[in-house]
Amino acid sequence: MRIGIAGAGLLGRLLAFELSALGHEVHVHDPAPGPRPPCGASPRAAAWSAAGMLSPFAEIETGDERLARWGLRSMERWQALVPRLPHVLPVGLGPHAGEQGGCHGAPPGGGARAVDFRREGSLLLAHREDLGSARRLLSVMAARLPGTHRPAQPLDREALARLEPAVHGPAHAWLLPGEGQIHPVEALEALYRGGCAQGVRWHWASPVRRVDPGALWLDAAGECRRHDLVFDVRGLGARPQCPVRGVRGEVFWLHAPGVALRRPLRLLHPRWRVYLVPRPGDGVVVGATEIESEDLSPVSVRSALGLLSAAYSAVPALAEARIVHSETNLRPALPDNLPALHVESGLVRINGLFRHGWLLAPALVEEALQCCELLSCAEQSSSDVPDKEVA
Ligand SMILES: Cc1cc2nc3c(=O)[nH]c(=O)nc-3n(C[C@H](O)[C@H](O)[C@H](O)COP(=O)(O)OP(=O)(O)OC[C@H]3O[C@@H](n4cnc5c(N)ncnc54)[C@H](O)[C@@H]3O)c2cc1C
Repeated sequence: MRIGIAGAGLLGRLLAFELSALGHEVHVHDPAPGPRPPCGASPRAAAWSAAGMLSPFAEIETGDERLARWGLRSMERWQALVPRLPHVLPVGLGPHAGEQGGCHGAPPGGGARAVDFRREGSLLLAHREDLGSARRLLSVMAARLPGTHRPAQPLDREALARLEPAVHGPAHAWLLPGEGQIHPVEALEALYRGGCAQGVRWHWASPVRRVDPGALWLDAAGECRRHDLVFDVRGLGARPQCPVRGVRGEVFWLHAPGVALRRPLRLLHPRWRVYLVPRPGDGVVVGATEIESEDLSPVSVRSALGLLSAAYSAVPALAEARIVHSETNLRPALPDNLPALHVESGLVRINGLFRHGWLLAPALVEEALQCCELLSCAEQSSSDVPDKEVA
């Protein structure tokens, strides 16, 4: 089949990789100037700025049982997908961290290796005075997770010290086995290069104005490209065809030699959702604010103070870490903050991955591809997808 994809962010690259692996002729269009748009470029996929936390259990606070189901399926999909991807150079934490040069030049650890993906669980942490926030999340998890999943294992002081010796301060801790993390910058690069190797044709500086069944309407002079099947995965760029909005998120990249974190930490705080995600090369990403605004200006003083002091309160050794990079981007969210997959003959739209794109994308892509196989013979969409339209 000849397939057109509007958007080369997380979903676009995943789709391109999977569809080209199946032998289809794949064309991807994106307004970005190239495969690694620099920080500050607009639009720049939300995917570049993500911490890469894969948290099917704790994130259920912001969704429903489907989130856990898709999330757990995605964890399996990432586990199978990462070994199929080309190796990449580790991302540096130098002065241009987060940009093309910093991402792909002079890495600290030497040669190329597999995309950093780990599934060693995550920790929930709460200070004594914030036990109320923790209890609420634990009860939400208990109520919304399918019966067999009771994931939170309380940790006493000794167990916590064994698992994460750098954590000092929080009086309460739980292990969530099965949660994990992925390095978004490395994964986006590997998906791109894997797609290239499988013959994907990338059309950069090529925005798509409108997506209709079998048709991508390019901005340039209203040109229309016809395909057997098209995917609309433009994130925020899908407006006005999709009622998506941007939700501002801010993150910090720290260089923290000697602070040996092994797994993501989530600090349950009454005012901030704060997580710390370790990265290779002594890196730690601290994120992320969630602000109802499409302002893409740099990180505010309030956010910096809130995020970093919360991180420091759980891992005091971060006091001497260096802030090498901060970043602001917009998460694509639908009015109910849940993802939507819409399938009709010749057209698939996926949007609204909000704060869970890395957690959900592989499962949603898998479901979309299953639907398309159904469509080719029965012209119907899966009963397993959310019953709503995004167009
Ligand atoms: C600060 C921050 C932290 C996050 N942390 C996490 C996390 O820890 N875990 C997690 O699971 N998720 C996280 N996310 C969410 C995740 O990054 C998003 O849900 C995900 O990137 C959405 O994927 P997408 O492909 O739908 O959109 P995007 O990744 O935004 O990609 C959309 C693509 O469409 C392109 N486009 C735009 N307009 C057009 C047009 N007219 N024509 C063609 N193409 C167009 C854009 O250039 C872009 O390449 C975070 C997001 C942010 C901002």
